[in-house]
Amino acid sequence: MQSYTSSQAPVDRPEVEMVIIQPTPFCNINCSYCYLPDRSNKHVLSQATVTRLFTELFASGWTNPELTILWHAGEPLAVPISFYREAFATIERLRPKDGPRPVMVKHSFQTNGMLITDAWCNLFKEWNVGIGVSIDGPRELHDFHRKTRSGAGTFDKTIAGIRCLREAGYPFHVLSVLSRASLEMPEEMLAFYVSEGIEHVCFNVEESEGDYVSDLFQGGELRQHFETFLRTFWHLARADGRIKFVREIDHALPRVFRPEGVRARNIQVEPLGMINVDSHGNVSSFSPELLGYKNADYGDFLLGNINTSSLTEIYKTAVDSAFLRDIQKGVEACRAHCEYFSVCGGGAPVNKFFENGRFDSTTTSFCTLTQMVPTDLILEAFDKFEQNLPDDGLATIAQSATQPAASSAHPPRMP
Ligand code: SF4
Repeated sequence: MQSYTSSQAPVDRPEVEMVIIQPTPFCNINCSYCYLPDRSNKHVLSQATVTRLFTELFASGWTNPELTILWHAGEPLAVPISFYREAFATIERLRPKDGPRPVMVKHSFQTNGMLITDAWCNLFKEWNVGIGVSIDGPRELHDFHRKTRSGAGTFDKTIAGIRCLREAGYPFHVLSVLSRASLEMPEEMLAFYVSEGIEHVCFNVEESEGDYVSDLFQGGELRQHFETFLRTFWHLARADGRIKFVREIDHALPRVFRPEGVRARNIQVEPLGMINVDSHGNVSSFSPELLGYKNADYGDFLLGNINTSSLTEIYKTAVDSAFLRDIQKGVEACRAHCEYFSVCGGGAPVNKFFENGRFDSTTTSFCTLTQMVPTDLILEAFDKFEQNLPDDGLATIAQSATQPAASSAHPPRMP
């Protein structure tokens, strides 16, 4: 959830880069590591809320020239295609197209893939929707956690969805949650992706969030395991040539090798850098996982409801909130103590909160895996190049550093 800007962090007004919208809290499956508390609830976002949200947002002038809208936090394809046809048309109608601040909109779905059909592919093509499919690898790895409510595996339907995308010639990326078992199997994971024609890959390591506690994150050896996995996978994938994008490396490369004076923005620590809206119109910011979560110190992390509050009021609530104060203390502690700060920008507040119990803290297992390990591996590869080792190190780095990351468009970590 990070990008570039040549400016300093905005202080007087937000700079909205991403809107994450929950079309429904409902999910058609029941993964064992899912943190979504309300996934049996079939409520659907109203079109009136879509209209209200984007009327406010576009009138504010606070959006980036390129705005990503991610439909997520429930299974987005559990809502009918007609819902999106209407919502997308509304947003297109409201989008500033001319004048001093035109806005380009990119819609994205993060889906379990099981409901993908030719009709969905037609919608994706029509609106150029970014698609991320959650699949954890070969059948035995995928079905271990990703199950139906009756406990059956979901691999067959997910792979059918992926094949449908491929037959339609529609580009997509996959998001794989790595378990203790899959961390030991980089070669098998690569062979699986190649056998299914999957070219764009993102990894999450199974983590503790909300009520789900991962035993993996509690082990001291996790950093070493992940580093070994990612190094092996990256090098094998580049040598093979059929994997075009590995998010952990390809998103980190331009942050590590960026021009002097260019700030690596972290929208998770800016009020309304990322706006999260649930299916009732409730708004939060900072990390999508905070929507629907409650805590004795901070309450419910909500900043207001877009149906009854203006975006200006919501922003003021964010700026005045105790959790922003503590998030910013955490960022300053990171700035003072962490040598990865210039790449990371202060981490993911939700992971500090779930792992350390407080926002005003620094290192987490999550930042170790998503910031420190990729940075170390990139610098390791660069060192090898500088030592003139006989490999194609610089070509690999240069090629990767200039590759667009658009196809993965900051996928969230779940489901
Ligand atoms: S890597 Fe971790 S400790 Fe370092 S700046 Fe990021 S969140 Fe803070």
